[in-house]
Order: sequence, then C-alpha cells, then structure tokens
Amino acid sequence: MASYETHTHDYDVVVVGAGGAGLRATLGMAEQGLRTACVSKVFPTRSHTVAAQGGIAASLSNMGPDHWQWHMYDTVKGSDWLGDTDAMEYLAREAPKAVYELEHYGVPFSRTEDGRIYQRPFGGHTTEFGEGPPVQRTCAAADRTGHAILHTLYGQSLKNNAEFFIEYFALDLIITDGRCTGVVCWKLDDGTMHVFNAKMVVLATGGYGRAYFSATSAHTCTGDGGGMVARAGLPLQDMEFVQFHPTGIYGSGCLITEGARGEGGYLTNSEGERFMERYAPTYKDLASRDVVSRCMTMEIREGRGVGDDKDHIFLNLMHLPPETLHERLPGISESAKIFAGVDVTREPIPVLPTVHYNMGGIPTNYWGEVLAPTADTPDAVFPGLMAVGEAGCASVHGANRLGSNSLIDLVVFGRAAAIRAGQVIDREGAIPSTNQAEVDRALDRFDTLRNATGGTSTAELRDKMQRTMQADAAVFRTDKTLAEGVEKMTEIAGAMDDIKVTDRGLIWNTDLMETLELTNLMPNAMATIVAAEARKESRGAHAHEDWPERDDATWRKHSLAWVEGNKVKLDYRPVHMDPLTTQQEGGIDLQKIAPKKRVY
Ligand SMILES: Cc1cc2nc3c(=O)[nH]c(=O)nc-3n(C[C@H](O)[C@H](O)[C@H](O)COP(=O)(O)OP(=O)(O)OC[C@H]3O[C@@H](n4cnc5c(N)ncnc54)[C@H](O)[C@@H]3O)c2cc1C
Repeated sequence: MASYETHTHDYDVVVVGAGGAGLRATLGMAEQGLRTACVSKVFPTRSHTVAAQGGIAASLSNMGPDHWQWHMYDTVKGSDWLGDTDAMEYLAREAPKAVYELEHYGVPFSRTEDGRIYQRPFGGHTTEFGEGPPVQRTCAAADRTGHAILHTLYGQSLKNNAEFFIEYFALDLIITDGRCTGVVCWKLDDGTMHVFNAKMVVLATGGYGRAYFSATSAHTCTGDGGGMVARAGLPLQDMEFVQFHPTGIYGSGCLITEGARGEGGYLTNSEGERFMERYAPTYKDLASRDVVSRCMTMEIREGRGVGDDKDHIFLNLMHLPPETLHERLPGISESAKIFAGVDVTREPIPVLPTVHYNMGGIPTNYWGEVLAPTADTPDAVFPGLMAVGEAGCASVHGANRLGSNSLIDLVVFGRAAAIRAGQVIDREGAIPSTNQAEVDRALDRFDTLRNATGGTSTAELRDKMQRTMQADAAVFRTDKTLAEGVEKMTEIAGAMDDIKVTDRGLIWNTDLMETLELTNLMPNAMATIVAAEARKESRGAHAHEDWPERDDATWRKHSLAWVEGNKVKLDYRPVHMDPLTTQQEGGIDLQKIAPKKRVY
C-alpha cells in the first residue's frame, strides 16, 4: 500500500475551487461564521473566471425598462426549454440582489453618466418576453468583469477569515455511509498529502473545455469535479450540450470576439470563398453562433478547410481601415499576433469553432445541493456535497447558455449554496473523523498513476481524446459521427490502463498532475459523447443532422450519465416545470414560457 506523509484538517466547509463560484460560496460561508477552507490548484485570481470580459446579466433597468420575468423568459428560450423552471426563476429574481452585493463588496463596475452600473446589450437578451427590442442587461467592469469580480471576492473572503490552501490539487472525495465527509488533496509545492474532513464539501472546479482540441478555456479547465463525482458513483447531467464559439484562434483556442465580425470581418474557405453568403444570405457572417459554427464545420468536412491539414477556416480583417482595428479591436490584433503570429492588417487569422462553455455538469437543485437521482426519487439530495458554477448543472442553461448568464450563475448559486449550508450544517455537531479506508483508496489510485509504466504517454492519449471529441462530438453531429465517436472514445478511455508516467517526483510533477487531470477529463468526455449519441433530436447546442427537429414529447428531459472507466450508463430525469411562485404570488405567467419554436 502507498505510504505518504499525510496532514489532517478539520473544517465546517471545504470549497474546492476559487473561481467566481468558489469564491462567492467561500465568502458566503465565512460571513456566517462557518469555519471555511478554500482549496485551489491555481492561485485564486488565476482561475478561468479572470478571462471573462463581456459582463454579468441582471435586470437592473439602468439603461431602460427591464424586468426579472423578461430575463427569465430569455433564459428559458436560450435553454431551448431544457432548463429547470424553478432554478431559472431563482436566477433571474436573485440576479439584481447578487449584483448589488458585488457592487457593495467593491467590484469597480463601469458607470453611467448619473453614476449607476453601466449595462451593455448581449445576444438573446430582450424585452417584453421576446417581443420588444433588445435590452441592455449585461453589467460590465470595462472588458475585465471577471477579473474585477475575482479580485473583489478574494479580498472579501480573506477579510472574513476564510482560509486558503493554494496550489493544492484535490484528488478524490471521501464518501462515508452515503454522504460526503471530505476531500483528499496533494500539495503541489512540497508533495505532502492533505485530508480535509468537513461537514460540507462544495465543488466549484469549473468546466471541462480541455476535453476538446480547441477551447477558449484555460488549460486548467479539466472537469476535475466531474471526475471526482463520477468516481464516487454519482451521475453527470446534460453533458451532450457543449457550446461552441465560431472564432477561437486555431491551435491555442484563444477567443476572438464576435465584435471582429461585427466590425466587418468575414470568413473564407480554401477557395477564398465567403461561404457564409451561401448558407445565410441575409446575416452572412453575423448569423447566430451555432449557425456559423455549423457552416464552418461543413466546409471543413467537405474538404474546403484551410492549412496543411485542411482543418480550419480564415477570418479576414485585412480590408478593415487601420483606425478601426486600432480603436475597436486592439485586443484582437494583439491576440492574433501573440497566438497565431499573424499581423491582422496583412494576413487572415486561422480560426476554428471552439469549445467555450459546458452547459452540463454535476446535477444540483437550485440550492447547489448535489442530486443522487433514482427512478423513483429524481430529486434526492446526496448529503454533504454541493456543486456550483460551471462544474454544476442547476439547470439554468439547459441546452444552450446565453452570454453573460454564466457570471451571474456563479454568484447567484455560490450565494445560494452558502445560504443553504447555513441552514443544513449542524454547527454544534462534530466534524466527521477521518475515513482512513477512503483516504487509502484515493492515495492508492494516486500511487498507481505515479508509478504507471504503460506504453502510452499522457500527452499522446490526451491528444487522441481531444481530436476525437473535436471531430465527432462536434458542433454538427450525425448518427454516424457520434457512433464512430463512441467507439473511438471507448477505446481511448480504455487505454488509461496503459498510461505511462515518466516522472515519479512528488514536487511540482506536471506530468503526474496532467495525468490526474486526464483521468478527470476522460469521464467528462465519455459522458458527453455517449449522451450525445443517444439524444435523437436537435436542441440548443446539440445540432443533430439526422434529427434536425426538437422533439419535446420524447426528449424534453435531462440526461444522466454514470461513468465507470470506459463504460457509461444512461438514464433521464424530468425537467422541473413548476415555478417557485405562482402568478398570483407575483410569479411568471406559465403561458409566456410554454415551449415554441426557437427563432431569433
Ligand atoms: C475566454 C472566456 C470568456 C468568457 N466570458 C464570459 C462573459 O463575459 N460572461 C459570462 O457570463 N461568462 C463568460 N465566460 C464563461 C465564464 O467565465 C465561466 O463559465 C466561469 O468563469 C466559470 O467559473 P467557475 O467559478 O465555475 O470556474 P473557474 O473560474 O474555471 O475556476 C475553477 C477553480 O477550480 C479550481 N480547481 C479545479 N480543479 C481543481 C482541483 N482538482 N483541485 C483544486 N482546485 C481545483 C481551480 O484552481 C479554479 O480556482 C467566459 C469564458 C471564457 C473561457
């Protein structure tokens, strides 16, 4: 058996992850006097939330009329009627409160002339239940909203005596008699092992964009929470819904904003053709994100991609006046230079539809409590465990997330988890004692990987997974590509048993850490492709060529995927149709959010 130097820590709450969701939960817990630890594999303010530029949605009505019910309607429609009604109501109703709290904590929002929080327009956000003009609902701190939120929440958490364990890598959950009682972590800078016993564990580990070849998300977005949950025998929900942004830089995946096409940029194929004119004669390159991403993929599939491997597309900005590039798109010009070595005044930018967000994740109720659904009890709560942020699935984004609805999800549900924990945690009760058998199990798994001497390097296997997911669980799916994808991924995930780790060190061993991350990416990827193969309809981000229509009668339900190694068991749970409040109590008129065709 593995023998490691182990330290034990006892807390009321352990939050894993220090992005927007983890920090908002940490702060809310600590404010109530709960002894709270926050564990993060990267420095808190380097979490992916720092990259969010656009802003955070809330119906403040600072720039014109708005209403939480309009925000709710847009979210329901954006989700393509797969979101849970209670959770979407909670999000839209609580959003203004959560944003004002951020303001009072010190987030330096941009301001209107009269000193109120500035709000900008964003796709899919409208007035009058989709009947009125676009609304300015997205609150912004210039083009660094995520950065501002992270720094503020980190400072406030320290002020409230939350304790941070930085550059600690969470390996596995500790499960004792059907409840979560802690988490086992590896301290990266000295190689020691740390057991955190807690009354509540909150997973806020972010998305799993790195299961794909091209992702706008940070290299740290490896779905570690989903991996831990899968190993604990709990399901992942709605994993087939992955949002693609049309213009990530080829290779690095760094985001090129839609604004580049807004300013007149256009896409071309290997024949130099502006192919979007063929697919979308009216809006051309400014058709909606999912449409453009699908058309680009069709061009590549039909052999008209650019580059040596004919596997990407060009975004042209050369024809734009230099002033436009300089004044309106300075960040883009810089990103293209750094990440593609391209001078945008002379050459096109190589781009590829790029994974941007994971709608699916660990199923929770709108308090962030993790669900352990069975056929008879689809809403059963798994005690001692919560999940918030992109790692979780409440579900407010359903089959497709609206821009600026993720940042608000982080703070609304981070806050909700803290409120709920304050209610369910027995403050006087003892902190669970160490479950040594579970700790040994986690350390044995770690030790086995550390000493793995198979034939396949982590980098090689990860590359195979990423390319398979990019090709077969893509923007644009068919029965054939999905069936091939399931077959290939089953083989690739099976090859985890043949992994080779070259460095046996315990301190800053990046090969081992990337291997651990791969063991987390793999179950996320498996759940994604298997659930996608099973869903015979098109809904939101799941665009199925052989099943082009949404089928509410059969498929308006959440998928659940239990993953063990390279095997996935699927089941479904009903979508919550009931709102939190009736119309008489001031809630939404359910007729307003009844399913209809989703056109913009
Ligand atoms: C480029 C980009 C721009 C975006 N712009 C916007 C926008 O303008 N508006 C909007 O609403 N949304 C935007 N999004 C989406 C949004 O930013 C993310 O969904 C959100 O920030 C995720 O936050 P999170 O707190 O869930 O996770 P993250 O911010 O990803 O943080 C995850 C945390 O978990 C920790 N962690 C993970 N695994 C482990 C482990 N094993 N052990 C210990 N710690 C671990 C990490 O250290 C990190 O602290 C954007 C996303 C990207 C990629």
